[in-house]
Amino acid sequence: MTSAERKKAAIERKIKRKFGNRQKLASKTKATYPADIEDERKKILLAIFALYYRTLDRYQDSFDRDVIYKEVMNRRVVKNSFKRIRENAEKLYEHQAAALNKQIKDTLGVELSDDLFDTKEMRKLVDEIAESDINDVKETVDKLLDAAEVIFERNRLRNIFLFLAVSRVIRSNAAITRQLHEQMGVSEYVWTTQRDNRVRDSHRRLDGRIFKYSEPPVMNEKSGERGNPGDDFGCRCVATPVFGINILEHIA
Ligand SMILES: [Zn+2]
Repeated sequence: MTSAERKKAAIERKIKRKFGNRQKLASKTKATYPADIEDERKKILLAIFALYYRTLDRYQDSFDRDVIYKEVMNRRVVKNSFKRIRENAEKLYEHQAAALNKQIKDTLGVELSDDLFDTKEMRKLVDEIAESDINDVKETVDKLLDAAEVIFERNRLRNIFLFLAVSRVIRSNAAITRQLHEQMGVSEYVWTTQRDNRVRDSHRRLDGRIFKYSEPPVMNEKSGERGNPGDDFGCRCVATPVFGINILEHIA
């Protein structure tokens, strides 16, 4: 047996002991919403907003959508912001991979390498997320210039950019978390709200309950729509993993 094999065998023994006769173990540490990543994303989008607003303001009397669009997109501030969106998506992945690794350590008592989560599929997902988030900014600016009545009102515009930041981080976080969970063979989660006064009643009722990713609960009682945490409009709920003994097949 090589030392790597010995180490792996020791980890497997430890995990088996933790599970005992059980098939499932919910994480002892709850998942949290990545508020710091969201704050950073808001700052990035506000920098784009500020430049867009200034440019729009300057052309108020000689409005030409194509000229404004080009000018905004060619500015260094915006190009740099796109780079920062990419880094922000990357950071979201690293943040959530580290959080999952800690949940594994707290629940199963084993120390895994962070590299384990860094797969080709994960790289692809993070790339796609960054690409799609950047495109969404471009499309939003484009649509705003096409709006029947172009919005010159500062606060309304600012809110559009802020909403874009938040909705994108929510969506990316849900996608990255789910992919990380799947890589560890996790198919169920504990619905976890932020437990503050912004949580909607229908989600408060889901808090602490276990669901399967493949059979999500009703998240919107009015429409009857089903979904996992983060699927509902502006939902900051997150999925705390329920580990299965099948995790042994995923830590090689
Ligand atoms: Zn929610």
